[in-house]
Amino acid sequence: MIGLISATVAGAAARDRLAAAWPDRSRVYEGPVGDAVRAAFVECEQLVCFLATGAVVRLLAPLLAGKAADPGVVCVDEGGRFAVSLVGGHGGGANELAREVGGLIGAEPVVTTATDAVGLPGLDTLGFPFEGAVATVSRALLDGEPVVLEAESAWPLPPLPTAPQGPYTIRLTDRDVEPGEREVLLRPPSLVVGVGASKGAPVDEVLGLVEDTLQDAGLSVRSVAELATVDAKSEEPGVVGAAERLGVPLVTYPAERLAAVDVPNPSAAPLAAVGTPSVAEAAALLGGGELLVPKRKSGARPAMATCAVVRRPGRGRLAVVGLGPGARDLLTPRARAELRRASVLVGLDQYVDQIRDLLRPGTRILESGLGAEEERARTAVAEARKGHAVALIGSGDAGVYAMASPALAEASDDIDVVGVPGVTAALAAGAILGAPLGHDHVSISLSDLHTPWEVIERRVRAAAEADLVVTFYNPRSRGRDWQLPKALAILADHREPTTPVGVVRNASRADESSRLTTLAALDPQTVDMMTVVTVGNTATREIAGRMVTPRGYRWQEGDR
Ligand code: SAH
Repeated sequence: MIGLISATVAGAAARDRLAAAWPDRSRVYEGPVGDAVRAAFVECEQLVCFLATGAVVRLLAPLLAGKAADPGVVCVDEGGRFAVSLVGGHGGGANELAREVGGLIGAEPVVTTATDAVGLPGLDTLGFPFEGAVATVSRALLDGEPVVLEAESAWPLPPLPTAPQGPYTIRLTDRDVEPGEREVLLRPPSLVVGVGASKGAPVDEVLGLVEDTLQDAGLSVRSVAELATVDAKSEEPGVVGAAERLGVPLVTYPAERLAAVDVPNPSAAPLAAVGTPSVAEAAALLGGGELLVPKRKSGARPAMATCAVVRRPGRGRLAVVGLGPGARDLLTPRARAELRRASVLVGLDQYVDQIRDLLRPGTRILESGLGAEEERARTAVAEARKGHAVALIGSGDAGVYAMASPALAEASDDIDVVGVPGVTAALAAGAILGAPLGHDHVSISLSDLHTPWEVIERRVRAAAEADLVVTFYNPRSRGRDWQLPKALAILADHREPTTPVGVVRNASRADESSRLTTLAALDPQTVDMMTVVTVGNTATREIAGRMVTPRGYRWQEGDR
């Protein structure tokens, strides 16, 4: 029984919603709250108190006996915003109760016991089909009980708090096994089934052959990633229908490519019909992997379908994640999710510091100092190739003067790549300055470390001639001090000395500063590597202390 205790009108209203949701599980305690809490403590297994935690702590203190015996207690604040698991988080079920209450009244569950607070990934959110004792094993993970992870090959899982031994198991397997009582099976998309079919082969024959073959080989149909065949069969109804009924894509290849694959059982029939000595085996093998089941014919007379099964290695996942300019609330929810999705994090040490608290315990962090860019890119790709879930981070947007290009230049198509855009410095600065980017604009990095100065200068000149608003990244460092004045001089050949220039240092960080000045008045000494410099075009104005680039004269006249 769950005892419900409230003191105020708002509390009573929320209490009544719980009472209505739990007609047989709850009992409302009226009267003075002290008496009510004391009575409920004795009579109920759980309490929900619509009272301040302080009040409840004082009332409970003399009653508490030990975590094995005490009921689980949840407190809900007057505004109904939080459901706090106060006592008996695990033994008394208060953590679970806080979540349940939260769901019912729209409050945020507040759980402070260690294993819960780390925000474990739900087994249903790992990105793989699953079966078995999901509730039992999730509970065990939450309670910090030993859960063993048995992965038959590396697939990109988030970090899980697993133990070397234990009564509970999470098993990543494509084998057709039954889950044990304390086991969850995760199904990696590891199997590729190559199929060949004669014209008019019935769906049932193709599908039956695929299913029988998998079953005989002890493989799970839930691990089938795709069916593969020759281009000529891309619209063969039996093959298309089988893929549809399995819920997997059909991948097709040109006959010449299939003909080039070395297979154990070539034959003359498909060579005559579609121009390759093997369809099923070759199509299954083309994406790489190990042939588990060589070509097999259906049992029909005449047999109109063939199939072969290949297991491909785990496919890693590389997320290239922009962290935004610095402020936590400019980190996108998607970036945050990718950071928690990764079991390996690669990045510059100062950026890792920016988000370390968001990572799941057990995340392997590979951080390095300034300059080790190529190495970071290579490391991230190598880890993904091993089958891991990797996040490669960069400040602002990871694709803007950052890690995405060196990483993707290294990456081949044997990994999945996910890009998460971030708020780049030019945008963060623009929002601080006003609306400097309201018309055509360009970003130019003044770092001549990797780009010859002649190239940079040519681009600055082109921007100057094209009357583009220009944002300079990497504008000036201790060793590189003449480039910014030179670039500004080129712009000054084409723009008035009074052209507005915005200088923003550490946008959205604790020591953010910004200044609005002009081309003539800008003092380069005030600019460093933490800064971006945005130079207006010939129409940019300072209006009420803000930098504004009009969207164009015609638009201003109302001609859209
Ligand atoms: N990927 C980053 C840019 C990396 S290049 C992005 O998208 O923002 C590094 C340069 O970016 C710095 O020299 C500076 O010019 C600029 N920069 C990055 N973060 C900044 C910030 N918070 N405030 C001002 N400039 C910043």
